Amino acid sequence: MIQQIKNKILAGGTITEAEALSLLKTENKEELYNAADEVRQKFKGDKFDMCSIMNAKSGKCSQDCKWCSQSVFHKTNIEEYELVDLKEAEKMAKENAAKGVHKFSLVTSGKAISNSNLDKLCGVYRNIQKSTPIHLCASMGLLTKEQLQKLKNSGVKHYHCNIETAPSHFGKLVTTHTIEQKVETIKAAQEIGMGVCSGGIIGMGETPEQRIEMAFFLKKLDIISIPINILMPVEGTKMEGMPKLSDEEILTTFALFRLINPTANIRLAGGRSLIQHIQDKALKAGVSAALVGDYLTTVGTNITEDKETFEKAGFCCK
Ligand code: SF4
Repeated sequence: MIQQIKNKILAGGTITEAEALSLLKTENKEELYNAADEVRQKFKGDKFDMCSIMNAKSGKCSQDCKWCSQSVFHKTNIEEYELVDLKEAEKMAKENAAKGVHKFSLVTSGKAISNSNLDKLCGVYRNIQKSTPIHLCASMGLLTKEQLQKLKNSGVKHYHCNIETAPSHFGKLVTTHTIEQKVETIKAAQEIGMGVCSGGIIGMGETPEQRIEMAFFLKKLDIISIPINILMPVEGTKMEGMPKLSDEEILTTFALFRLINPTANIRLAGGRSLIQHIQDKALKAGVSAALVGDYLTTVGTNITEDKETFEKAGFCCK
């Protein structure tokens, strides 16, 4: 069964939802991971994509996302600020570029960035663009087409907007905005020619079947980069007591996301410290990209060590 599905995908076909659901139950997980690795090799080669992010506005968010330490609905100990020092942002982009990171994104908390902050950050992007060739991305909430166009005109090529989870689970995690609003932003970004990065967090009470639902939803949206975060429960959020996913569930998610989205970058994102012990296996189960460096509000990674790990696994980080 696994070989048949893999061969169909390698020949340019697509896996059906029923087939993906049946693979969830396969006893032979190693065969599943190997099949995902072969599909990754065929469609993405050995090139490994590294991106980094900077939290340009932190905390005080009016939204009630159950996992998020930046929501005003939660009492957490994060550092809060209205807008990052603009020179610091430029410096960080340059440092990341010098370390060989391919993409750099500014990320802001909140339902959507204000127009005045957007204008300031567009200035930062224009300055970064003048001094480094790093690929620019942005993640600033539910933006209008006009706001997205401003970012594009300032050199931003990819817009990031996570769908976070399966559509059937979204309402259990967030009530202040909807997944449809996220889809509107994603489509608006695509309509003006931006690539879209969108994934989510696993381990937030969704079922394995809902993870498959999420992967197919992203496929339908034509997403080119899919970050998969493993929930790191933060004290003070509604998710603080969530049980950990098993290693097998996590690796199966990477593998199935690859089989469902063969040409997308399947990206290791937040929660990497939780899967350190299986990272080498993940790199052989369909993954083709990673978020490196400091993360938003959780502990990040060392870029030089990361590159060594990816190269040791057979990837090229150039
Ligand atoms: S909108 Fe973003 S910053 Fe605000 S609570 Fe949700 S995830 Fe956190």
